Parts: sequence; structure tokens; C-alpha cells
Amino acid sequence: MKTTETDVAIIGGGAAGFFAGINLANFNSAIKVTILEKGKQVLSKVKISGGGRCNVTHAEFDPKTLSTNYPRGQKEMLGPFHQFMTGDMFAWLEERGVELKIEEDGRVFPVSDSSQTIIDCFKSEADRLDVNVITNTGIDEIIRLNESEFSWELLGKGSRVKAKTLIIASGSSPKMWRLVQTLGHKIIEPVPSLFTFNIKDDRIKDLAGISLNAAVEVFTTKDRGVSKQQMKSLQSSGPLLITHWGLSGPCILKLSAWGARTFYGLNHQFQMRINWLPQHNVESVKSLLEDLKDSQPKTFLYPNPTEGIPKRLWQSLLNYLSIDREMNWSNISKSQIQLLSEEICSGVFHVNGKSTFKDEFVTAGGVDLKEIDFKTFQSKRHNDLFFVGEVLNIDAVTGGFNFQAAWTSAYLCAKHLSEAV
Ligand SMILES: Cc1cc2nc3c(=O)[nH]c(=O)nc-3n(C[C@H](O)[C@H](O)[C@H](O)COP(=O)(O)OP(=O)(O)OC[C@H]3O[C@@H](n4cnc5c(N)ncnc54)[C@H](O)[C@@H]3O)c2cc1C
Repeated sequence: MKTTETDVAIIGGGAAGFFAGINLANFNSAIKVTILEKGKQVLSKVKISGGGRCNVTHAEFDPKTLSTNYPRGQKEMLGPFHQFMTGDMFAWLEERGVELKIEEDGRVFPVSDSSQTIIDCFKSEADRLDVNVITNTGIDEIIRLNESEFSWELLGKGSRVKAKTLIIASGSSPKMWRLVQTLGHKIIEPVPSLFTFNIKDDRIKDLAGISLNAAVEVFTTKDRGVSKQQMKSLQSSGPLLITHWGLSGPCILKLSAWGARTFYGLNHQFQMRINWLPQHNVESVKSLLEDLKDSQPKTFLYPNPTEGIPKRLWQSLLNYLSIDREMNWSNISKSQIQLLSEEICSGVFHVNGKSTFKDEFVTAGGVDLKEIDFKTFQSKRHNDLFFVGEVLNIDAVTGGFNFQAAWTSAYLCAKHLSEAV
């Protein structure tokens, strides 16, 4: 069996592992860095990220506001973001010739609109800095050594690596989490995050492609084990997209991240209310409709009289309530106005499962954050062990925030090690 000896071994050639490796070699060229990747290729998630465009970070430059995008890790990442955050990543890439652009919603992409630009940049940095990248090497065993020179022995199929310091950057790998448990670390049970909601309902059937601003609020019965406190946090608003399967868009994805654990407990089956006119409530919509009855008695209910509700959705809501769309406003009854107002502001929908959001998905769960020093991303159990990226119980809403956690943790770990090893 071939044995490789190195100062720092990194398990995982993904976003966090690669970024840690190249920064460490850049800070201190005397340190021998080896990245071990089980796949044939490194950076495979970067490749498919952001629909192939790689949403590399987000144009949010205040650390406190930035941290509010992390349902898990909000408190812990605040300090690290003060050291290295979005603007620093922007500068890091631009200094290496990668031009970036900020889209209207704040997401940052390479100008090339191709994730390959990021991969090429990282790979050429690894070459320039002489980082040893070994692919097709999945680590199956981590052994603590009692030798003076090396502290870790890593075993994979046909390979043995001895290292003084170990960085684990294996992303959401159940196998690696089991190995990490044998090192005495607690793993918070992994559950999916960032998903869309499956809903079969006549009101949104055939409306795929409609996008609008809405507010949603989840509710369920107490006997399903969800506390009032949890319920309170399960609200969201913003752009919502009707799909062939149900609902998606930032409003839903944000909710799926904040409620990831609760939704898992509910087997992704629950009810929610939608307000299609989030700037209104039932009472204000009622007076809006009453005004229409007074001001334009001779016009038909259809097309839609209120700004904010697309025509096709308005027609669908009228159908659902069996209100004739060719009726004049003068003929609409009080009870119909009441029904419409309730339907617009608090229609109840049943969510029956989830689908993967193809542009980005992550796992909520991983190494317990209580066991990590957030100045360095060092394990509190072993002083020559570090965790960076998604292997930790840190995840964010969609928009480039997940990569930012990988960049920040990797950079700070590398900075510390460059001075300590
Ligand atoms: C489809 C998709 C699109 C996404 N798009 C975006 C986006 O646009 N913006 C954003 O911010 N986030 C995005 N994300 C999330 C983002 O990709 C992750 O948060 C990020 O990749 C985490 O980086 P990581 O290095 O911790 O893990 P990973 O990138 O998953 O890397 C871990 C690496 O470790 C390797 N590994 C695992 N176990 C072993 C082992 N035993 N031995 C050796 N190697 C091992 C894996 O093969 C992998 O290469 C997306 C995710 C998905 C799935």
C-alpha cells in the first residue's frame, strides 16, 4: 500500500476543502498540503451549482445581516464573517482574474455565467502553489496515532496517508459523519433543506409559471408535536412561483430552510395559509372589493380588478368559489365578497411532500457547533483536527450563502494553520 506523508491532509476536494488547501499553501509555502477526494473529479458540486453558473456569494456586506440568512449557524458565523466575508471573497476572486457580477436579487455570479470559471481559478491556484490533489481516494478509516511526528493516519482503498494535522471538509457525507462520531464528536441528525412544496390543488392547477409576491404561514395541530414557538417562525414572504408540482420561489425556499427540522418531523405534510396580496388583510381586501362594487358596478368581475393578483389566478379563485366571472360587480353579494377576501388573504393549502430545488440544495445537520472553536474552526476535542464547510451543522437559505459559509470557514482555518503548524 502506498503511503503519503503530509503536514496537513484535507478530506474532501469540494468547495471548502479546496479553498482551505489553496489558501493555506498561499499563506505559508513551507506547509505541505494534500487534498484527498473520493470522486474522479474535484469541485463537482461547484460545477453543478447555481444551475451551472455558480452563485458564488451574495452582495450582502453587513456581517450581522448576512448571518440572518443562516437558520443553523447564525450566531456562530457572526464572528467569522467579521474576519472574512462576501466582500473578501469578491476581492479574492477578482484579484485572481475572475470577473463577477451582482444580479438584481443580490446573487453574485462569474461574468462568464459558467461555474467552470471558478473551478479553473481554483485548480490553477492549486497547481501554482504545489498543493497535492489526490482523486479517487475515499477515506474509510481515520486513526489517531501516538507518534511524535504524525497525529493521523487515513486509510482508503489502496492508500495510506499520514498527517500532522487533519481538516475534514467532506460536505454532507453520512459515512464521514459516522467516522467523525468515532472521534468523539456529536452529529446533529441530517435532514434535507432548501426544497419546494408539493401541492395538488385546483386553485393552482394549470397556473405553472406564474410568479408573484405573496406571504405564507404554516399551521398545524398541537398533537403533531410542533410547539407554538416553532409555529411562529414558520412564516415567510417574498417572490413565490407556481410550478407544475406546487410552489417554489424564494418565499418557499426560505421557509423550507428555516423549518427544515420541523417539516421533517411532519413528514413534509402540513397545511399553510397563503396571502396572495401580502400588503393587505381580509378586512382591507373586503373594503377594496366593496369600493369596486360601488365605483364600477357595470363591469365584469373578470379581468382582475386588483393589482398584484395575476389574471389567471384571479379567474381560478373565482372558479374555486363558484363565482361567475361574467357577473357585474353590482351583482356580487356581501357573502361572496367575504369569501373572496378570505380566499385572497388566507386560503388554506395542503402540502403533501417536497421536491428538490435543482439550482441548490443542502443538508441541515452535521458536526455539533458547540464542539467547534469559531475563531479557527478547530475541534474542541482534538487540537489538530478542523472542520470546514457543510460537514458542520451550518446551512443557509438559497442565494450564495451556503458557499460563503464554506469560503469563510476554510479561509479562517487556513489562516490559523498557516501560523500554527
Ligand atoms: C445542485 C446544487 C446546487 C448548489 N448551488 C449552490 C449555489 O449556487 N450557491 C451556493 O452558495 N450553494 C450552492 N449549493 C450548496 C453548496 O454546493 C454547498 O454548500 C457546498 O458545496 C459545500 O461545500 P463543501 O466543500 O463543504 O462540500 P462539498 O462541496 O459537497 O464537498 C465535499 C467533498 O468531499 C468529498 N468526500 C466526501 N467523503 C469523502 C471521503 N470519505 N473521502 C474523500 N473525499 C470525500 C466529496 O466527494 C466532495 O467532493 C448547491 C448544492 C447543490 C446540491
